[in-house]
Amino acid sequence: MSHHPSETRHDVPCSFCGLLCDDLSVTTDHGRVRIDAGACPRATAGFDAANRALDAGATPRIKGQAATLEQAIAAAAEMLRGARAPLFGGNGTELPGMRGVMDLADATGGTVDHMNSYSMFRNFHVLQNSGWVVTSLSEVRNRADLLVCFGTDIASRLPRFYERCLWVDDTLFGLRAEDREVVMLGSPKDPSLATSPAGRKAEVLACANEDLAEVAQALRALVAGRPVAGDSVAGIATADLARLADRLKAAKYGVVAWVTSDLDFDHAELAVQSACDLVRELNAHTRCNGLPLGGTDGDYTAHQVCTWQTGFTVRTRLSASGPQHDPRAFDTDVVLANGAADALVWVSSFDPGKTPPSTSIPTVVIGHPAMQVECDVFIPVGVPGIDTAGHLFRTDSSVAVPMRKLRDVGLPSVAEVTAAIRAALQPARPAVTTSEARAC
Ligand code: SF4
Repeated sequence: MSHHPSETRHDVPCSFCGLLCDDLSVTTDHGRVRIDAGACPRATAGFDAANRALDAGATPRIKGQAATLEQAIAAAAEMLRGARAPLFGGNGTELPGMRGVMDLADATGGTVDHMNSYSMFRNFHVLQNSGWVVTSLSEVRNRADLLVCFGTDIASRLPRFYERCLWVDDTLFGLRAEDREVVMLGSPKDPSLATSPAGRKAEVLACANEDLAEVAQALRALVAGRPVAGDSVAGIATADLARLADRLKAAKYGVVAWVTSDLDFDHAELAVQSACDLVRELNAHTRCNGLPLGGTDGDYTAHQVCTWQTGFTVRTRLSASGPQHDPRAFDTDVVLANGAADALVWVSSFDPGKTPPSTSIPTVVIGHPAMQVECDVFIPVGVPGIDTAGHLFRTDSSVAVPMRKLRDVGLPSVAEVTAAIRAALQPARPAVTTSEARAC
């Protein structure tokens, strides 16, 4: 491991949530990274974990025994060579890493999923069913005068959202921080996170998140001028909902934001659908947009790469006859429960806590260097945005932000490891390809 002397960099992008803030100041000192400015609890945890990896002295392992990188790669290739239906799960990596995973899946007829699919698909179902009207973070920053948080406080998941996107004064159209209002619907964890710099608190209209679909439909009716029966809807006074409907109609640029990981209940896609229906209705009267927020562990990036390479998002199998997409059958948990995979490659480079699901099939983990995991082959890799460069897609999918390599402690990237496994696999695969070609 080579350790560089102390160096401070500015305007460093952070890879630990979908905001991808690009304004951190970071000092690297003998391989340790420290955020001097622009930190938030989530980023600090991510950087701390990357430092822990140095203490742990991460090394590749085969069945728990220390091995060289070359040996671990050979063992991973050997495992994949014998597999007929490998599953590539987790996929917490940046763009080049995801491309490498796709190459490997393509070479082995593997199935590709992401650890956050259960959450992302709450949005995808709506997008596929009806489409949606959504906006970007820049538009929110420059135009949003009323933000409705739908079942979330946002900042528990994306800590600097308000600081970066709402409580700003230098906007294109003269909108100032104190001109903006926040209303939270449902069960936000900590509404105080959205208190404005001058101390104005977010208004909360509380209900169970499970009831948000009903509340959104009532709001939609009120916006359309239709009556809503009863004094309350899911515990919220109808009069309060009517006031909110009026405020949304009076807003110049309303935004309805949600985080699918906070909508964690059965058929949450119906809540997302109702929020999108409300936005659509509002556009008959004023401007209003949805804002689906999320994007951790490279989930939006995996979605983008898989989509542009196969025409489908994750939960896609790269079979010899072409990609097959099935959001239910190719769910990691379902594949494992059905015994439909005979090898698991788990990629997780952002968070040492995101370990593979327990399974009895042979498992290779290409993981965060501080990860504690028992598996057949463990290959520690660099943390995106600290040890490795490569783009990540921001939560609004409109911007791909280049991450920077801040130190060199001798850890390979997911892209390098997957390419090496692919190369080691090479000689043994043509027989399969030839027989498949004959079968056609
Ligand atoms: S809000 Fe997200 S991207 Fe910004 S510094 Fe915190 S973890 Fe990093």
